Amino acid sequence: MNVRYIDAHCHVQFEQYAEDDAALIERMRNEGVVGIVVGVDLESSQKAVALAEKYEHLFASVGLHPNRVADEVFDAAAYRALATHPKVVAIGECGLDYFRPTEVNDEVKNKQKEILRKHIELAGELDKPLILHPRPSKGTMDTYRDLIEILKEAKTRYPDLRGDAHFFVGGVAEEEALRELGFTVSFTAVITFARDYDAVIRATPLENILSETDAPYLAPASRRGKRNDPLAVIEVVAKIAEIRGEDPETVRAALLTNARRLFGLPA
Ligand SMILES: [Zn+2]
Repeated sequence: MNVRYIDAHCHVQFEQYAEDDAALIERMRNEGVVGIVVGVDLESSQKAVALAEKYEHLFASVGLHPNRVADEVFDAAAYRALATHPKVVAIGECGLDYFRPTEVNDEVKNKQKEILRKHIELAGELDKPLILHPRPSKGTMDTYRDLIEILKEAKTRYPDLRGDAHFFVGGVAEEEALRELGFTVSFTAVITFARDYDAVIRATPLENILSETDAPYLAPASRRGKRNDPLAVIEVVAKIAEIRGEDPETVRAALLTNARRLFGLPA
């Protein structure tokens, strides 16, 4: 397979693809799209590993999403057992999500932080990158502030700690702080219709950007409101090049290299 793109964050194990996942995964192969299939709880992490086992161009990440920390008791041993699989290339998605209609109280925040730290331990001990979900409350950067503080502290224990901040909605300062800590940022197809990310996309060094879809969520402008899929990563990469005013082929090749480097994928 001639790999051209890496979707650093998708959920093709979700039920939205139950009817046609084999056909979709075949189209990914034909278009040269590799996917990192990201778990959001134990069951979806197991499914991600099963898909990665079955298909050469799929890899898995295992973790418990911050919005699910109340629904599942984090079984570190079970995640660790999954994470030792050679096709598990990252730990997550994990992180902090304070985006709610009502204010997130300290109890919820502390629970999310506690579970995030358990993922950090796993990533540190297994020497695998983290896939982070840091969604702030409306109009703030609160989760980035808390996340950066936690990562700074964790780096003293695990100097090689690294990863990707998925669905990046932070600003230039947040990107810079994450970069200093060894973290890339990734953008979804939201950038095809929302102009809020242009400044940070231009300001971030090319070697610190990954492309992703977060499929089935966040479909691009071309099929807004419909189910998304990892093929949209092609549009995401083209849009990043357009926003930066750079050669599309140069950007495509660089983003591919970046994801291979972070996830330790063969060239
Ligand atoms: Zn996700």
